[in-house]
Amino acid sequence: MLSAALAAGLGMAYVADVKAGAAGTPTPAAPPAVTPAPIDPTTMAVPDTLEAHIQAATLAAGLDLWGILTLCLPGDPAAVLPATDERAPPAKVFDNLYYVGMKGVAAWALTTSQGIILIDTLNSPMEAQTAIEAGLRDMRLDPAQIKHIVVTHGHADHYGGAQYLADKYKAEVVMSDADWAFLEGPRAPQARADRGPIPRRGRAVKDGDRLTLGDTSIEMYVTPPHTPGTLSLIFPVKDGAMNHMAGLWGGTGFVFEPNHENFVTYAASADRFAQMEAMKGVGVILSNHPAFDDALIKIDALKSRTPDKHPFVTGPNAVARYQMVASQCAQARARALVEPKQIDPSGIVK
Ligand SMILES: [Zn+2]
Repeated sequence: MLSAALAAGLGMAYVADVKAGAAGTPTPAAPPAVTPAPIDPTTMAVPDTLEAHIQAATLAAGLDLWGILTLCLPGDPAAVLPATDERAPPAKVFDNLYYVGMKGVAAWALTTSQGIILIDTLNSPMEAQTAIEAGLRDMRLDPAQIKHIVVTHGHADHYGGAQYLADKYKAEVVMSDADWAFLEGPRAPQARADRGPIPRRGRAVKDGDRLTLGDTSIEMYVTPPHTPGTLSLIFPVKDGAMNHMAGLWGGTGFVFEPNHENFVTYAASADRFAQMEAMKGVGVILSNHPAFDDALIKIDALKSRTPDKHPFVTGPNAVARYQMVASQCAQARARALVEPKQIDPSGIVK
């Protein structure tokens, strides 16, 4: 395809030729107008400067991915999460995927031919009761069908209800080997009265492992450093006759030691997971915090959806842009440690 600049140059030469032609020569049709293709931010080369990373993240976020763009804001990374949480209405999001979480933190139930795989367990046994168990029942699902509990990472807002549910339903708790070790080591989160206990070691998985229950498999990738062994997930979802692949970036906030190495590691993990998602044709963005994937807004939009348009099916380009925002904000933070500049909340570099 001709570039716009090249086509413009050719067009000028063409006009000059016509003018030089003999009188009476039929006037040829005008050259077709060339509309430059819209810029796809995911194909851009981004210079390694703070300003360029912020601009790339903002461009990648476009008008639809503002939740994840909050990663570029300075300050407390937990500030985007509500201080006090309440149960969100449970919802059937796909034919085989249900939201049974809070307004600040998610739990997802993936139904299979052999039972339920639960993804994350909220803060505490109480939330597991009021949001997960009650939510499943509201959706006419039986909590006793929970066979596996995938805990994306070793923070209490994701494992808090795990041991309670595992004990009650004889379900297996699945976490990365690295995060089991993290929870057994000196850097484990401190026990808090409002949070559930650290679960006992269950299945330990490694990068690229699959968890299969009945007709459904989840692919799991180890994507540090939100925690040392944060798991990010890829799995199939169904919408009537349509099958889609969903990607869940398992640890989003920059809650780790804010040093250069960690930000660089985060960006590399985000980029690598984007490659995995592209290979698998992922077209659905999920998170374990609805502030990032706008899950509650999309759940609301499900009520007025048309048969051919599902609000969670945003396509591979949006998936790539989502991961690019995460990566570029991490790279911006890495540069901010070495560049004498400040990022202000508007994203303007000073
Ligand atoms: Zn976390």
